[in-house]
Amino acid sequence: MHAKAIRIAANGGPEVMEYVDVDVGAPGPGEILLRQHAIGLNFIDVYFRTGLYPQPLPGGLGKEGAGVVEAVGEGVTNVQPGDRVAYAGGPNGAYADLRVMPAAVVVKLPDAISFETAAAMMLQGLTVQYLFRSTYPLQAGQTILFHAAAGGVGLIACQWARALGVQLIGTVGSKEKGELALAHGAAHVINYNDEDIVARVKDITGGAGVPVVYDSVGKDTFAASLDCLQRRGLMVSFGNASGAVEPFTPGELSKRGSLYITRPTLFDYMTNQQEVEAMSAELFEMVTSGKVTINVNQTFPLAQAAEAHRALEARRTTGSTVLLP
Ligand code: NDP
Repeated sequence: MHAKAIRIAANGGPEVMEYVDVDVGAPGPGEILLRQHAIGLNFIDVYFRTGLYPQPLPGGLGKEGAGVVEAVGEGVTNVQPGDRVAYAGGPNGAYADLRVMPAAVVVKLPDAISFETAAAMMLQGLTVQYLFRSTYPLQAGQTILFHAAAGGVGLIACQWARALGVQLIGTVGSKEKGELALAHGAAHVINYNDEDIVARVKDITGGAGVPVVYDSVGKDTFAASLDCLQRRGLMVSFGNASGAVEPFTPGELSKRGSLYITRPTLFDYMTNQQEVEAMSAELFEMVTSGKVTINVNQTFPLAQAAEAHRALEARRTTGSTVLLP
């Protein structure tokens, strides 16, 4: 069968992304053939495109999508042809209208959630789920620092924190993004282009600092993030939107008060179908109950995925972005 897909033959800028015809075989054991109706755009796709995260080339891009199962391979029991499903994870290759992929990463989608919403929320929403509920289980009444609060992960985090009774201090790159984060539940915003992050956090917390910082900006914010932590606080470094964090010595943690640091990735929290199902169920409940609204603030035709990457990297997007086959 034929599919339309984005492929890259080399790492580089958005121009390396080619929209091509590909052959899709039948699903093998443990695999499904999925007709995709919407595809999620994530910053991790940029890392794979540039080569910051290596992958064999030529190859596909994309980790997230939603659609209808067309066929299943031997031994697949969790879904069947005709099921509406969504996923985050598995091998790169979500930028396609039709694909073969492992059945173990997909979950059935509640009827109340559209394909577009699902494709926008799986990777970013499951990320907030594990960050807030597993990496550092948040407690009502805590005040936390969360960078890039108006982005895809960020707007979900603002709402999820509010639902947990947590005061989220969000950093943003513009006044408009600050307003958006506040409207989605951030308790305070800091515009890191013209405000001092550490001074503002100390001011907001009465000098105490925060017990946890969630930092996906990386290189540009790393040092300030450590300075915002309370004694024995946890630095969660989970992304590199501004570039990879530079090497540092453990002494940086002791001199700031016996800090902890973790560098988690979603896929280590979704190692089997049970984890995938449990995390997804919690996310679906947050969304169907209305506690978290998914903002699909940009859509692009799949053929224009390169434009979507340009917008994301230039910080022109807010909330989530979806590619439509
Ligand atoms: P976003 O929609 O949040 O886009 C990234 C945002 O980062 C931008 O909008 C921008 O917001 C901010 N930013 C700060 N500095 C830069 C820079 N130099 N270049 C570009 N953007 C910058 O993306 P996602 O929601 O897809 O992902 C958010 C982050 O979370 C990413 O770093 C991603 O890799 C990470 N992530 C990590 C996961 C994990 O498990 N480890 C899983 C999912 C996401 P502003 O203009 O307001 O500064």
